[in-house]
Amino acid sequence: MIPISIKVSLDLVKSLYAKFIDWDAEMIDYETGIPSHATNTAISEDLGQVEYIMTDKTGTLTENRMIFRRCCISGVFYGNESGDALKDMKLLNAVAGGSPDVVQFLTVMAICNTVVPIKSKTGAISYKAQSQDEDALVNAAAQLHMVYANKNANILEIRFNGSVIKYEVLEILEFTSDRKRMSVVVKDCQTGKIVLLSKGADEAILPYAFVGQQTRTFIEAVEQYAQLGLRTLCLACRELREDEYQEWSLMFKEASSTLVDREWRIAEACQRLEHDFEVLGVTAIEDRLQDGVPETIETLRKAGINFWMLTGDKQNTAIQIALSCNFISPEPKGQLLLIDGKTEDEVCRSLERVLLTMRITSSEPKDVAFVVDGWALEIALKHYRKAFTELAILSRTAICCRVTPSQKAQLVELLKSCDYRTLAIGDGGNDVRMIQQADIGVGISGREGLQAARAADYSIGKFRFLKRLILVHGRYSYNRTAFLSQYSFYKSLVICFIQILCLWN
Ligand SMILES: [Mg+2]
Repeated sequence: MIPISIKVSLDLVKSLYAKFIDWDAEMIDYETGIPSHATNTAISEDLGQVEYIMTDKTGTLTENRMIFRRCCISGVFYGNESGDALKDMKLLNAVAGGSPDVVQFLTVMAICNTVVPIKSKTGAISYKAQSQDEDALVNAAAQLHMVYANKNANILEIRFNGSVIKYEVLEILEFTSDRKRMSVVVKDCQTGKIVLLSKGADEAILPYAFVGQQTRTFIEAVEQYAQLGLRTLCLACRELREDEYQEWSLMFKEASSTLVDREWRIAEACQRLEHDFEVLGVTAIEDRLQDGVPETIETLRKAGINFWMLTGDKQNTAIQIALSCNFISPEPKGQLLLIDGKTEDEVCRSLERVLLTMRITSSEPKDVAFVVDGWALEIALKHYRKAFTELAILSRTAICCRVTPSQKAQLVELLKSCDYRTLAIGDGGNDVRMIQQADIGVGISGREGLQAARAADYSIGKFRFLKRLILVHGRYSYNRTAFLSQYSFYKSLVICFIQILCLWN
């Protein structure tokens, strides 16, 4: 009754479904010319049954086109009136006057990075940066007349108000997601002073400020900028003594050349140097939402799909973005429940409280979302897995901030273990694990490179194409597969019946 040919027929049509996605003219990103592509041809009908979508924030929901907007330099806020610090007369005057605080701040902005300046034949300088944040900072510094002009071997050349300043790069302490900051050690070629320049997340810089420095205005600035949905970075520096540097340098070189536990030892060496900072200021960078993101999320949520946002960014920034792209309705219709705490007990209590509210409101048509940060999540997944799983099932929306790539993958695994069909969508190398873990992985081929798109089952150019991928291609594929299976079954039923009839007569 069930023909063997059904397998062949299904495989054939499934590869056709995948082709439909490749051919879809409405899923081509005309800005960049990137078409949508289905790498995995076997799971088209699964697209029509997605229950949970786990999405990255930067570059997936947002454009990943960073624009420098505001800054706070030693307690003074710039860019508040005009909304653009580069046009703020107060800052431009301070730059022209050569205020030492501002000059130091701009120096960190210009050289605390791994950017390479490229000079064209006409003399114009363009920058090649690994991350969009660094690109935005270097360009902003250049607009404020602190131009990172040249890099020759280890010598950096900066031009400021007509003078040329040279620095020798002694060491680069690269960014890691555990330390959440990066630093460079440079030597001023004129004065011979050795300085450590750092930039990083507020929690990786402000607690390490030297004893006696008032960091209250910086905390305020970070809060204020995050409320506006801006990405913040804190800039800091520390002067090093020659002997202190030499001693540390030996240790760092040794750590870099060991074969066992190298990453851990390098991190430890970095910690040795990165403390007692003199905090210089805070930068705020805008990353706009992509076109059509709020509509896409709203439509998919109406279709009964649950959304989770997993991001490495700050809590307030993540919440602002979530609000602006219809993840949750604003108060009073929507409600945000916070899971936080530093110790096991605190996390347990806050988890229970959230769970209780969630149980009560689950019968009401209210928009309830929970917000959890990386640290609390770590504890919840380790010690209170059962309670957290119940919460995950009850909640339609979740915002997880400050999560690491492996935690993203763990969350997908948690939902999968509850027999939900999950879809993970991301754009960068840090989303690859989550994409591979999920039933369906979608990669966005954006400015972060093609790592995610290569690892994924489907690659699309922009987030808004997800709507068409799921609601049109997914649904059609599902219906067509169901129809074809039934057709093959009944067809062979009829053929068998005819043969039995023939035998009878
Ligand atoms: Mg990303």
